[in-house]
Amino acid sequence: MFQCRLINIFLCLTIGIGLSGWTNEYTSQSLALIQQNPTNGKPLKQIINPSLKYPDLSSFQNAIKQSACLLKSEHVYLFAPQTSAKEANIIFPYLTKAYETLREITGVDTEFIIVVYNFPKGHPDAWGGTSNCAIWYDDSNLHLDRQEEWNNYGVPHVSGYIEEMAHNFVSATKAQFGWEAMGWSLGARVCARVAGNPHLAQSLAQTRREQENTFRRYIALGFTFPPEIPPNLVDRIHAYLLRQCEKRYGTDFWKDFFRQISRRKEDLVNAARLKNDDAVRNERYRITIECLDCLPGLHFKQTLQQYGISLTTDVKSLHPMNPTWNRKLS
Ligand SMILES: [Zn+2]
Repeated sequence: MFQCRLINIFLCLTIGIGLSGWTNEYTSQSLALIQQNPTNGKPLKQIINPSLKYPDLSSFQNAIKQSACLLKSEHVYLFAPQTSAKEANIIFPYLTKAYETLREITGVDTEFIIVVYNFPKGHPDAWGGTSNCAIWYDDSNLHLDRQEEWNNYGVPHVSGYIEEMAHNFVSATKAQFGWEAMGWSLGARVCARVAGNPHLAQSLAQTRREQENTFRRYIALGFTFPPEIPPNLVDRIHAYLLRQCEKRYGTDFWKDFFRQISRRKEDLVNAARLKNDDAVRNERYRITIECLDCLPGLHFKQTLQQYGISLTTDVKSLHPMNPTWNRKLS
């Protein structure tokens, strides 16, 4: 099971993206490309988000009122109760591998080191999403003996962490297409690569079936998002379209897409100067669509037009959570 997959996206949407750190995404002017020190050509050192309230072992231990462990790599930190140190050590290499894979595909580093918190279950900070390069989970994922993936295939359940990590990478590139669709799709691909197993494959297939069914209903209703599906799930449509791109274009889809995105980095960063969040988002959406349209064989703009999806306004700027939304995508 995904912790924040599209079928139960609400938590991630309302807390992870809608209300907390993600609303600040446009205040940052920097695009977190893998930057080099001009004097020696070495990559600049990434730091943890200076605003984190638990930046070190002692502050985390105080928060959870028990002893803890902190695992560190160059790009990922993981905090866990000491009682789960063994499991934390099993999971950690999967997370560092996921970071490296996401970095290779997107060509960027996240703005800060990814900090993964595993609070004891019930802790008020374990709200189950990500903001500003921190992942706020409880320790459910550390109970390996309760996981079908671990018990049957010897692979820990890490898809939730990887999805959250992917959201932070997409945010660093400034690409904009739907709500969670891009992070979810990229995370799914990376998770299959670094922690693939039959249970994960089945879970991904089921989510993709739901995305496809929603898309078919949307078409059948004359390009109207089905009234029985909560509006916060609207970018199932976008996830479905990205999946079609993956299938049509082949294995290099994400890497080639993000290469196009990196060519437009100046425009994407400069969009932050526009007057409000909707305008910034729409400008980045237009650039993202142009990048998708550049990829041979996708005819992406034509596809959007064919399915009644705006070429100029991102779905988030249509404010689907507003009760007056007409369930159209243009
Ligand atoms: Zn998510």
